[in-house]
Amino acid sequence: MKHRQPDPIGAGLEPGEAPGIAPHPSVVPKGSRVLLLNATFEPLAVVTAKRAVVLMLTGKAECVEAALDEAFHSENLTIPAPSVMRLSRYVRVPYRRAVPMTRAGVLRRDGRRCAYCSKRADTIDHVVPRSRGGQHSWENCVAACRACNSKKADRLIEELGWMLDFTPGAPSRTAGGVLVLAVEPLPAWEPWLGAAA
Ligand SMILES: [Zn+2]
Repeated sequence: MKHRQPDPIGAGLEPGEAPGIAPHPSVVPKGSRVLLLNATFEPLAVVTAKRAVVLMLTGKAECVEAALDEAFHSENLTIPAPSVMRLSRYVRVPYRRAVPMTRAGVLRRDGRRCAYCSKRADTIDHVVPRSRGGQHSWENCVAACRACNSKKADRLIEELGWMLDFTPGAPSRTAGGVLVLAVEPLPAWEPWLGAAA
């Protein structure tokens, strides 16, 4: 069974639940995602373009940054499609769950740079190898290139004379931290995510 997360937007509104306002599906660019900020500009969620339009049309959110070359059209209305939008009223977010560790998440956390040689990373490495009791966790995983990964094999970095110049850890539980790791951010979102991550 699917458990729905508590709706952090508080709008309690799904596209289609607002008769007469929801745009026709054909006019909403497919796959568009919109970064939703709290009234305080803290990143809050990523919503579908359809949801974004409903939030704008009902006055619950305003466009902060428009998406280039995209707009929503209805019979008598054209709205620039947002790429970043902001809630009109502040919403308290009481609780954030821990961010589950994923390979993609570790690569994003480490900026896709190998923790050992700084070259482009396309895999992850267990700092303390699993065969030697290392955990499959944010704290024990780093981005790595394939060369370092296979060179290191099941050894400890101390045994190789290697060093880590940062302490790996779980990303921040702030909305920015969660968002950066949960979805691939669009370039237009970067200024907003950076501040809170
Ligand atoms: Zn490397």
